[in-house]
Amino acid sequence: MTVVLNSVQDVITWRKQNQSNTIGFVPTMGALHNGHESLLARSKSENDLSILSIYINPTQFNNVDDFTKYPKTWDHDLKIARNHNIDVIFKPNYDELYPDNYKFKVIESDFSHILCGADRPGHFDGVLTVVLKFLNIIRPTNAYFGEKDFQQLTLIRNMVKSFFLPTHVVECPIIRNANGLALSSRNSRLNADELQVAEKLNSVLTLSKSATEAKIKMNELGVTVNYIVDIDNRRLASINVGPIRLIDNVKI
Ligand code: AMP
Repeated sequence: MTVVLNSVQDVITWRKQNQSNTIGFVPTMGALHNGHESLLARSKSENDLSILSIYINPTQFNNVDDFTKYPKTWDHDLKIARNHNIDVIFKPNYDELYPDNYKFKVIESDFSHILCGADRPGHFDGVLTVVLKFLNIIRPTNAYFGEKDFQQLTLIRNMVKSFFLPTHVVECPIIRNANGLALSSRNSRLNADELQVAEKLNSVLTLSKSATEAKIKMNELGVTVNYIVDIDNRRLASINVGPIRLIDNVKI
């Protein structure tokens, strides 16, 4: 049975009642798709109990439009959680999670300022802060993150290490649609033409001989390239298709 908990105190109590169990944690912003489902399945298979959080975290949005238009599909999400026999959905509100009204935050001073951080000031402060809160409330054995958000995953891994948190960070491979597009909740906001262009990104990243070549090819398709760079055997990209910001990365 899947239980929905809204309060921090209820989650702390649930955790105390299950002290001797291994706990898998999957943080999400909802609008669940197969990418999220792969994390849920992995958590279920590796832990006694699994908890999913669904929370559209306002402190990580620096664009009001992106925040207000973020897709919300609660009934669908609940069904998915039940299908995967997720034990708990944690669905807090802002006042529960931010009793200090975001006066305290986690700030990383290096990697969070480049790539997506350069275009989205404060984005990773919001991400790291909310993840630290979740990890402290839930105290999971394992927490599952997608490689799709590679910069986020790296920063979370380093935060966990820096603050000696007792959670194991598990990275999960990118799930794509049949045409190679990395699944994302934001894809539902693309129209048919935009989708076709977005679907080119993965093959361009994979087949180009350099990041510069990939950038030129994407520009020719009429999209705005926020960045395409090679770092440590990985090609990382962010593009805007219309107003929709998409990210992807491939091993090179
Ligand atoms: P989000 O709801 O977008 O914040 O994502 C929640 C988690 O799911 C993050 O760890 C993401 O990296 C992961 N995720 C999102 N899309 C995918 C995907 N296509 N494949 C694998 N993991 C994903």
